[in-house]
Amino acid sequence: MSSPFSDHPLLPPSTMNAALDDALRALEAQGLKRALRQVQQRRAGTVLLGGDRVADFASNDYLGLASDPRVARAAHAVLQAEGTGAAAARLISGNHPIHEALEHTLARLKGCDYTLLFPSGYMVNVGAIPALADRGDVIYSDALNHASLIDGCRLSRATVRVFPHNDLDALERMLAAERSQFRRALIVVEGVFSMDGDYCPLDRLVPIARHHEAWTYVDDAHGTGVLGATGAGSLEHFGVSRDVDVVVGTLGKALGTAGAYVGGSQELVEFLVSRARSFIFTTGSPPAMAAATLEALRIAEVEGWRRDAVRDRARRLRRRLLAAGLQVTGPEDGHIIPLLIGDAVRTMATVADLRRRGFLVGGVRPPTVPAGTSRLRISMSAVHPVELVDALGATLIDVLRRV
Ligand SMILES: *Cc1c(COP(=O)(O)O)cnc(C)c1O
Repeated sequence: MSSPFSDHPLLPPSTMNAALDDALRALEAQGLKRALRQVQQRRAGTVLLGGDRVADFASNDYLGLASDPRVARAAHAVLQAEGTGAAAARLISGNHPIHEALEHTLARLKGCDYTLLFPSGYMVNVGAIPALADRGDVIYSDALNHASLIDGCRLSRATVRVFPHNDLDALERMLAAERSQFRRALIVVEGVFSMDGDYCPLDRLVPIARHHEAWTYVDDAHGTGVLGATGAGSLEHFGVSRDVDVVVGTLGKALGTAGAYVGGSQELVEFLVSRARSFIFTTGSPPAMAAATLEALRIAEVEGWRRDAVRDRARRLRRRLLAAGLQVTGPEDGHIIPLLIGDAVRTMATVADLRRRGFLVGGVRPPTVPAGTSRLRISMSAVHPVELVDALGATLIDVLRRV
C-alpha cells in the first residue's frame, strides 16, 4: 500500500500498486505466484528452513562443494589479501590475475583454447548469443532451452526457429529447407536440460551442424563438473570436446561458487571481449570468488568419488520410483530427476507435503515448463547419504499414493 502522505499532495495518485495487485491475484489463482523463502545454514546436503533442518534435494549443489570448508578458506584468504570487490569492469581496472588464472584452468578442464568469465550464466547467454547472431542470421533453439537462452535469442534480433526438444531429425529438415536464406546459423542447446534432466546427443548434433555450416552453442550449466570421465561435462561425455564452437558452463551449480564462463577458440573469446555487452558493461566478479572456484575445481578433480556418488544415488532413487510406477524421466543415472505431476497447484501442494516431512524438493511450473507438465524436480548430491536417498524414495511413493 502506498503511503497516504506525499511530497507532492496535489499529484494524482500512482496507479501502479493497484494494477500490480490485480496481476498478483491473477497469478495466485493460477498457482503461479512465486515467493521467496529463507534458506539458511547450508551444510552437506541439508539446509535450515523455518527452524527445521531439512534434506535438500532442490539445489544444484551436485558435488556437495557449496559448503565445503576448503572452498570457503580459499575465498577467505583472498578476501583478506585483496578485499571484496573487483571495483570496475574487467576492461577498465577490474581484471585481477586470479580471473585469468581461473580462465586458464577452466580452459584446460574443458579442453578448449580459451574461456572468458562472466558474473553469471544468465549474463553469458544474454551477452554471447546477441554477439554471435544478428539480423539476417538464424538461430535454431531447442524447445526446452533455459530462459536465459531464450532471452539471448530475443535480444539478438536474429530469426529464431524453435525445434522440438532433442529432435535432431526435425532440426536437420529445418536446416535443409532454409539455412541458405540466412547469413550465419547458430544452433543453441543445453548439454543437460535443466528441467527434464536428459542430454542433448551432441555426437549427432555436431556433424549435422557442420554439414549445414551452422555453429554449435552448448549451455552445459548442469553437465559441468558432473558428466564425463574428468567432470569436464557433456562435451567430454559425448567425445566432442574440440568440436563444439561455443560451450557455456556455470560455476554456481556443481562447483558450488558463483559466476560462469564461455569457452571456445581464441577468436571467439577475443571477439566476445569486444562485443558481449553483458561482459563489457558489468563489474568484474570478486577475486575471492575466483579463488574459491579454483579450489572447487581442484577438489572436483582429485575427488572423483563425488561424480560416481551422485550418479550412483540418482540411479538408486530413479529405479525405486520407476518400480513404484511413478512417471520419472531422464537417463538412468542422470542427476536431475523430474517426477511429472501435471497440475501446477497440485505440484506445489506436494512440495509443501514433502517439506513437512523433512524433504526440500523443487516444484517446477509454468512458465519454467509448459502448462500441464508441472513436476517435482529432485536433484541429487554426492553428499546425500544413501539412507537419506532411500527415505526420500519411500516418502515420495507414500505422498504420491495419497494425492
Ligand atoms: C542455471 C542456468 C543458467 C544460469 O546460470 P547462473 O550462473 O545461475 O546465472 C543458464 N543456463 C542454464 C541451462 C541453467 O540451468
